[in-house]
Amino acid sequence: MSEQAMRRVTAIQNGTVIDHIPAGSSLSVLGMLGLLDSKSTPISLVMNAPSKKLGRKDVLKVEDRELTQEELDRLAIIASKASVAIIRDFRVAEKRSVELGTELVNVVRCSYSNCITNNPREPLPNRILVHKADPLELRCAYCGKIQDINGLVNHLI
Ligand SMILES: [Zn+2]
Repeated sequence: MSEQAMRRVTAIQNGTVIDHIPAGSSLSVLGMLGLLDSKSTPISLVMNAPSKKLGRKDVLKVEDRELTQEELDRLAIIASKASVAIIRDFRVAEKRSVELGTELVNVVRCSYSNCITNNPREPLPNRILVHKADPLELRCAYCGKIQDINGLVNHLI
């Protein structure tokens, strides 16, 4: 590997580094950010790296894109302990953290197909309430059903 290629794996010039993702969840994180089908954004992915905090963790480096706080807060569902650094010119310019609010509005759809929010004739906002933080329990604000956390990535809006 050339020195330049090596540097690409270890450091990025501009972009966002998302650290402390639970091991095995980095693809879900990319899905949540709408980057899974990206054909143009360079993304480096480290899976199952040793971590003092988590045992094993995933790390994502997204080049030439500064993720917004709103985008990052989407990650709270799957990576509530993630730490985020905005990189400019190889330096950490800003640190951000993922925050789990009390409600997710128009992030994911209720996973129950007969919920009123999934009726195309009822244009309601999709509101999922954070019922408990640890362990995470999410409920639909309309039908009250507990959401399957692992399945939610398939119900992104
Ligand atoms: Zn519902």
